[in-house]
Amino acid sequence: MRATRLVLALVLAFVVPAGVPTGPASIVAQSAPLQTPEQFFGFRIGADTKLARWDRMLEYYRLVEKASDRVRVRELGKSTEGHPFVVLEITSPDTLKRTDYFRSLQRRLYFQDGAPTAAQRDEVFESGKAVVVVTCSIHATEVGASQMALELVHRLATDSSPRVKHVLDNVIFLLVPSLNPDGQMMVVDWYNKNLGTEFEASPMPWLYQKYVGHDNNRDMYMFTQVESQLTAKLLWHDWFPSVWLDEHQMGSNGARIFVMPATDPINPNVHPLIYRWNGLFGQAQGAALEAAGRDGIIYNSTYTNFWQGAMAWSGWWHNQVGLLTEMASVRTASPTEQQRAQLGRPPAPAAEGGRGGGRGGGTGPLPAPTDVMPRTEYPRPWLGGRWTLRDIVDYELIATMATLEYAADRRETLLRQIYEVNRATVEAGRKGDPAAIVITPDTQPDPLAAYRLVDRLQIAGVKVYRADAAFSADDKNYPAGTFVVPMTQVFARYAKDLLEKQTYPEVRRSPTSPPEAPYDVTAWSLGLLVGVEVTFVKNPLPESLALTPVPASPRRAGAVTGSGAVFVFDYSGPEGAIAINRLLKAGASISSSRSTPGAGGGRTVVEVSGVTPRTMQDVAAALGLQARAMPKRTAGAATAVRTPRLGVYQPWTASMDEGWTRWVIEQHEFPYTTLHNADVKAGKLRDRFDVILFADQQPNSIVAGNASSSTRPEYRGGIGEDGVAALKAFVAAGGTLVMLGNACDLAIEHFPLPVKNLKRGLTRDQHFAPGTIMNVEVDTGHPLGAGVAARTYGFYNNSPFFALTEGFSSQQVSVAARYPNINVVASGWLRGEEHMAGRAAVVSVDLKPGRIVLFGLRPQHRAQTQATFPMLFNSLYQAAGQ
Ligand SMILES: [Zn+2]
Repeated sequence: MRATRLVLALVLAFVVPAGVPTGPASIVAQSAPLQTPEQFFGFRIGADTKLARWDRMLEYYRLVEKASDRVRVRELGKSTEGHPFVVLEITSPDTLKRTDYFRSLQRRLYFQDGAPTAAQRDEVFESGKAVVVVTCSIHATEVGASQMALELVHRLATDSSPRVKHVLDNVIFLLVPSLNPDGQMMVVDWYNKNLGTEFEASPMPWLYQKYVGHDNNRDMYMFTQVESQLTAKLLWHDWFPSVWLDEHQMGSNGARIFVMPATDPINPNVHPLIYRWNGLFGQAQGAALEAAGRDGIIYNSTYTNFWQGAMAWSGWWHNQVGLLTEMASVRTASPTEQQRAQLGRPPAPAAEGGRGGGRGGGTGPLPAPTDVMPRTEYPRPWLGGRWTLRDIVDYELIATMATLEYAADRRETLLRQIYEVNRATVEAGRKGDPAAIVITPDTQPDPLAAYRLVDRLQIAGVKVYRADAAFSADDKNYPAGTFVVPMTQVFARYAKDLLEKQTYPEVRRSPTSPPEAPYDVTAWSLGLLVGVEVTFVKNPLPESLALTPVPASPRRAGAVTGSGAVFVFDYSGPEGAIAINRLLKAGASISSSRSTPGAGGGRTVVEVSGVTPRTMQDVAAALGLQARAMPKRTAGAATAVRTPRLGVYQPWTASMDEGWTRWVIEQHEFPYTTLHNADVKAGKLRDRFDVILFADQQPNSIVAGNASSSTRPEYRGGIGEDGVAALKAFVAAGGTLVMLGNACDLAIEHFPLPVKNLKRGLTRDQHFAPGTIMNVEVDTGHPLGAGVAARTYGFYNNSPFFALTEGFSSQQVSVAARYPNINVVASGWLRGEEHMAGRAAVVSVDLKPGRIVLFGLRPQHRAQTQATFPMLFNSLYQAAGQ
């Protein structure tokens, strides 16, 4: 530590009231050390029922920064709700002074300025540091890691032991103490509010990230949320760390900690050496915990090696050693008691013992652990007893220090082998098959989708170029301006995995066992999700082809051509809805009509009047739209487009799909009102709304909500039978209900709809699709089909699919989208494809008056399914146009 800096910090922090000028530093005692977290917070970190809150944590970190020359706090940006999102850079004082140099070495290791020369490479091996990032508590109820980080930082800032020096000399440690500051404070406040009351275990009734809750760890390829974007920037634009540990918590009943490696299946696009290093680091953590005499350390369990979308997982395809730890949870910060088991003797399946196997719910003692057989991946099973937040903090301190020490011990080997993975990746691209992935924006049904796709790839660090001239590859011609993703780049594995079709390898414990469920979805082909065809080029591109890097956030130039007071543009994707909503807000009069069907079906043309050319110009430029001005309105059948009066149902069960839906609606600039149970029950809904939207939720959950007595009374229950009656009255008065996913069943059950949900009644052996991209045929002449390609891709995850049944003559039922008769699956895994062939995916029932729209396919799933966004938007516009 440098004395003067420390002294000044102490003066500012402890001695001088704000606004009083400081005197000479020498008058202050030099021995006052940095406060420990315990001194600063007034309790030992991890003490039962005690939680540090993010705003105070940040104060502490800033105090550490002032006191220590080993720690720098960098604000990367603001969280969704405007709180500082920070990384701490922790290393030796000498290294911290020269972070630009070490960052440049790390960039070289990851081939950011082309392949390094032999001399540059050797400099990396000799002088480079092991750059390790640790991210904490993205799932805000999994409080342990963020609490642990306080003690870890204090130790690294103050400890003068040889082990800590060894770490600081060899490692640059990037600590993100909270990946979700907003949620951290919500959870702490909720816990403190209920602590000591009968509602101590009451689940928080809203999402711990404003829009996406727990799905904030499902966003690392679409990057919709700012926390994901800031993390991507740190990882793939700023520091390029080689090791990335993301710290989580799991259920309360079994193993105490999961360490890597994870379990089958593996992903073919990850370099095997990355999986090896996963094992090395995970086992280093496990060994340190065993040495400390800790129980219940497991690997090769639960978490699979296949899936894209999670935080540290996404490092694998970026040639980074992505690691996960999962700790057994307590009840937020309250300890759990668990009945004891005997080693090697699983308890008989008991009647329901304690509850609360999840991340903090429930009361009473937990039932004894059932996994008590010692084995290679779990040599010292957890047998039950008391478990506290401090235990979590201790395990995580040991595991995190082990990660840093192992990185320090193996610094040069790690650098050499990561270099080898990077070199091999680039070299494989040079050989071809694939040599490049190309995307032609102007031949897509929605040209803007290609720009959105390229933007997402670039956030993930993928380098994308535009061809300066026309070229041919694999005997196909491509125009100038084609987007090119060369495979001769360090993140080629990621680009390939994101853009190809996924083939999920079915895993069975034995040949006669049923297939195991994947950990999450089985398909993420980004081109299909956004509605863009991509082409994999096998043979190397012509050497003469000049490529220009695509700038960040690429946009197609928007323009208004011609002259006149009426403007027309094609509605061919989500930007069309943003444009309509902006223009409606500016007072425009808007109608839409179908153009004459051509080879690919007709187009939907939007006609706008009542705004100035300047307004239209601004909208077109901002969104990349090509609009034409005309002297007067065209004759012909046109449908008025109005702003829908939209209500979105929000249950008190913290529904992620509701959050995602809300995010998509906000991003596309639809005004809306959130409806809670009481609002629905109050009735008279038609006076206020044209359309009410229910996100994916089981019907009984919509009606009954959280019924348990541990739920706070104000958040107990659902819409009830009163609410169902109010919805019926709403439709009878001409309102539209839009039901997503399982919410469709609420309408099918309570209205006489001539629709059957065929998914119901099928066993998992017969039909199972935990997250699959489907081929979808869309009736583009249907009001719901406007702005969507006639053949496109939709997301499906065990939600309904439909057959039409006999209805009343007063009802008019129509299918807006269906699955094809053959080749239903476009990407990912689905069992029982034959059940879905030719079946309806999106159905509209006109009840005259009133309408119900059933979305079996998920038009807005995790805000990723841009190709089908317009169908959702159309269901809203249609309701207002009645
Ligand atoms: Zn988690």
